[in-house]
Amino acid sequence: MSNDKTAGAHGVGKRFIGVKFDCCQVYARIYINNEGTAYEGRCPGCLRKISVKIRKDGVNCRFFSAF
Ligand SMILES: [Zn+2]
Repeated sequence: MSNDKTAGAHGVGKRFIGVKFDCCQVYARIYINNEGTAYEGRCPGCLRKISVKIRKDGVNCRFFSAF
């Protein structure tokens, strides 16, 4: 009787933003990279990779569009 708790231990506290992928007309979350320099992720429809660079003065918009 083993009771592994592997589920639910992912990405707690990791920053993300919502992005609209115009290629597939879908919103998805993308997460900050390990360096903290950009948000990176993939379109859930076509798996296109995008990244949103983070400025030092902060990102004042929570939602971005990918082109
Ligand atoms: Zn797409």
